[in-house]
Amino acid sequence: MGEVINVVDIFGEDVFNDSVMQQRLPKKVYKDLKKTIEEGKELDPVTAEVVAHVMKEWAIEKGATHYSHWFQPLTGITAEKHDSFISAPDKHGKIIMEFSGKELIKGEPDASSFPSGGLRATFEARGYTAWDCTSPAFVRHDAIGGTLCIPTAFCSYKGEALDKKTPLLRSMEAVNDQALRLLRLFGNTTSKKATPSVGPEQEYFLVDREKYLQRKDLIYSGRTLFGAMPPKGQELEDHYFGSIRERIASYMKEVNEVLWKLGVSAKTQHNEVAPAQHELAPIYAQANIAVDHNQLVMETLKKVAGRHGLTCLLHEKPFAGVNGSGKHNNWSITTDDGINLLDPGKTPHENIQFLLVLTCILKAVDKHADLLRESAADVGNDHRLGANEAPPAIISVFLGEQLEDVINQLISTGEAKTSKQGGKLLTGVKTLPDLAKDATDRNRTSPFAFTGNKFEFRMVGSSASIAGPNTVLNTIVAEAFAEACEVLEKADDFDMAVHDLIKEYATAHQRIIFNGNGYSDEWVEEAEKRGLPNIKSMVDAIPALVTNKAVALFEKFHVFTKAELESHVEIEYEAYAKAINIEAKTMIDMASKQIIPAVIKYTTVLANSINAVKAAADVDTSAQVELLTETSALLSDAKVALAKLIDVTEKAAQINEASVQATFFRDEVKVAMDELRAPVDRLEMIVDKELWPMPSYGDLIFEV
Ligand code: ADP
Ligand code: MG
Repeated sequence: MGEVINVVDIFGEDVFNDSVMQQRLPKKVYKDLKKTIEEGKELDPVTAEVVAHVMKEWAIEKGATHYSHWFQPLTGITAEKHDSFISAPDKHGKIIMEFSGKELIKGEPDASSFPSGGLRATFEARGYTAWDCTSPAFVRHDAIGGTLCIPTAFCSYKGEALDKKTPLLRSMEAVNDQALRLLRLFGNTTSKKATPSVGPEQEYFLVDREKYLQRKDLIYSGRTLFGAMPPKGQELEDHYFGSIRERIASYMKEVNEVLWKLGVSAKTQHNEVAPAQHELAPIYAQANIAVDHNQLVMETLKKVAGRHGLTCLLHEKPFAGVNGSGKHNNWSITTDDGINLLDPGKTPHENIQFLLVLTCILKAVDKHADLLRESAADVGNDHRLGANEAPPAIISVFLGEQLEDVINQLISTGEAKTSKQGGKLLTGVKTLPDLAKDATDRNRTSPFAFTGNKFEFRMVGSSASIAGPNTVLNTIVAEAFAEACEVLEKADDFDMAVHDLIKEYATAHQRIIFNGNGYSDEWVEEAEKRGLPNIKSMVDAIPALVTNKAVALFEKFHVFTKAELESHVEIEYEAYAKAINIEAKTMIDMASKQIIPAVIKYTTVLANSINAVKAAADVDTSAQVELLTETSALLSDAKVALAKLIDVTEKAAQINEASVQATFFRDEVKVAMDELRAPVDRLEMIVDKELWPMPSYGDLIFEV
């Protein structure tokens, strides 16, 4: 039995949260800071000075020696620059611990090595980090000691966003403004704030660290680039929700403790479908905090794994033929006084508001399906989306039987726009059954599923930041709300106008609703008939960022400028090309230096044994000869494929234009990689296990 921990005591103990602020800050300063946090007011320098001082004292008590502006550059992971609190020694050689308001609010990391997609020319290479005081600071403990981490946004000298946080915060403002505008139309005068709530479910794999270190592909690319399926795969599904093994259990216990201290409400944990796969979900939080917390979750999963002789793989597809990992992004909009706009509610009046919200979301998702798809695109996710795995690359919305039926009724009744018909429809709405939260079945194949009082966007990749998908969700829904408000604000008869609008949206965007099996071939055909986009790869998804439609959307709500969007396009093509380049080079290295030499060794042993057997006795060696012939043929195939891969990888490196290069990597290099993998995986099944130069899938997946 390990030591007993009291969750209530440790939860948030390393976070500079509201209760710490209230306890330690002078009343007036606390009030000013709260105002800044709640109303987005600017923090004045005097207040900042006091907050910095108190924060530093608190952090030092927690064991911090350094502070760091913690930010999220466009690489999708977090970055930080550590500064110690110590001042220059005085003339007696003594130092003091310092931290000023200026250092709290603003930082200037040497940012020239972060991707900016041309936004930050070298002559103005400065980047600034600015405190996002709506996400609390925390002290993180690891091998280098304690560090006070200050969540920040990262911008260029001219104020262009160089990170994932800034656009997210902008999109949260947009959805706040438009949601409040909509609520006011329905007579709500009390809500002051509407915030997107997000709960991401994180999937991951655990493998033994010693074995991981014997696989260059896992080390360099995070996934296996070779590997034959073990005799037992996931077909028995005995792992899903299976009991958690001791070693994994002690790992999860520590992960939970670390996260709880950081104020991350890690709540559920269980085994996933694939062997060695697990999931962790926190309780939902406001979007920017959820984004920060998800970064902490990913970081903690990796860090703690090392202490248990494990390695955590966050890649979307570490093993071919085994389920990949995703991140289900649960999303809703909640007001400061506890109204969830996605809750169907109990009264007809609220149902009408809900139905408008729902149909606005249908409209948003249908209109911007390409953007949502793009927001889930990353190199690893190409192995899942559109590759016969969860979920398909086609965006559709699952409503469940009950809601779909409601929508169908709305569409079919009230053809004419008379008040009678309208009355009828309203009656129809009034007789809606109470939409019980679990009235409908789950649909595990839908990329965007309504689950009671939230939508679950199931396309996001396990290694990705959830900032991008939520930025898109917030913005497209803000747009739909704004457009609805424009109509409703002008209407003479509000009730009639709402009714018409719900019907109009439901009818116009009905095609996006799909409750069937999203993995089936019939759906692919059906979706094509409906005119829904089926964007199969990241390279094809990227241009969605800079269509006229997208630029107009993001500029209207001040989420991205056109220049920022163009920079993202550049960065994403580059990220794609770089990742595939690393994979190709790793394969070349492994094939040349490990696999081919091992196969040659095996053929030599085989040939020698044939001669030895023949010399000893006049017996039939045709089996050995057959094996030798087969192995040699596969070796020759592998050699040819290797030469081709080397050739196309070199060619790819010479292409300058980012989109052309990325496309070449996808169409030529990836194909050549598959061609090399095929004979090698077959060889793995033949060659003596003792001679095979790396742990097999079986070793990695079943022996954790
Ligand atoms: P499910 O079984 O529907 O997946 P879970 O309880 O596992 O539900 O929740 C999945 C995630 O969704 C959790 O992170 C949870 O906190 C989050 N969640 C629950 N309700 C909401 C909501 N209204 N808005 C956003 N996220 C939510
Ligand atoms: Mg779920």
